[in-house]
Amino acid sequence: MTSMALAATLFGPEDLRMVERPLDPLASGMVRIRFGAGGICGSDMHYYRHARTGDFVVTSPLVLGHEIAGEVVEIAGSVPDVKVGDRVALNPSRWCGHCKPCRENRPNLCENIFFMGSASKTPHMQGGFASYFDAVPAQCVKIPDHVTYQAAALAEPLAVCLHAVARAGDVTGKRAVLFGAGPIGLLTMLAAQRAGIAEATVVDIAAAPLAFATRLGANHVVDISSGEEALKAEAATRPFDVAFEVSGTAAGLASAIGAVRRGGVVVQVGNLPGGQIPVPANAVMAKEIDLRGSFRFGMEFFTAVELIADGSVDVLSLVTAERPLSVAPDAVRLALDRSQSVKVVLTA
Ligand SMILES: [Zn+2]
Ligand SMILES: [Zn+2]
Repeated sequence: MTSMALAATLFGPEDLRMVERPLDPLASGMVRIRFGAGGICGSDMHYYRHARTGDFVVTSPLVLGHEIAGEVVEIAGSVPDVKVGDRVALNPSRWCGHCKPCRENRPNLCENIFFMGSASKTPHMQGGFASYFDAVPAQCVKIPDHVTYQAAALAEPLAVCLHAVARAGDVTGKRAVLFGAGPIGLLTMLAAQRAGIAEATVVDIAAAPLAFATRLGANHVVDISSGEEALKAEAATRPFDVAFEVSGTAAGLASAIGAVRRGGVVVQVGNLPGGQIPVPANAVMAKEIDLRGSFRFGMEFFTAVELIADGSVDVLSLVTAERPLSVAPDAVRLALDRSQSVKVVLTA
């Protein structure tokens, strides 16, 4: 059995280091995972740059990573349903199963949730950008042999997007506009298309991600880097029934509220900067907009694994680079460069 793990550990803003640490003996009822692949998420990048994402602040060293797949290498005690050698996608959420949101089948809102690689709680729950890490069996979702670890790792962001589309309600035949052409925006587009939207318009302030959105199947793209005239014209000819704010910016949320039609739905998926954010709240009132939050995911994680396994969603089409875990800090810096990166995936 291995006794050491190498983990991408964040100590402060732009201070991400590969740190080797001894592994504790595996606790009873737990499983040990050997890292297979890990997607670098926007929140990992926020943590890297600012040692915070939204209102979650890193106060002690944090191993990043919550989009993870790997192999079960050790099991402590008797654990049904999981075997040594299983290849698994890791659900980064640990839900309690008995609080009110859990009982209402909204486990993403669990009052006692732990989430890998997140500073939402102190002490922080460590992430999966580590050569070995431990999980509870319920986090392990078996993947078929033909699914690569790279694809399985992207079940997590796909689950986020399936949840966002679910929050929009029935989108069949509707026109959707998405603010932010990063991985979550693009996967939300693919999820919304699967759910039956008529058209997807993707809005961003950078040319390269918009070109990528077009290749991936966006019906229209709008660059608002030098103003919103084109967006206003688009909204006038093709009113948007539903808007997804996926950029994580106050400007994106304001634009979404401005662009959606009267009586439309705005889903806020992006994690905005922390603190008080000015929003055009009177437009929410005057247009009777349904403004809905979307946070992580619940059972959509299992759906995401299925959709990847049966080929319904080609998550690998978003991957622009693969780098070994051992150079995770460089890989995070590469992911931050939107002129060349959409999704960067770490491999073993
Ligand atoms: Zn993520
Ligand atoms: Zn709960």
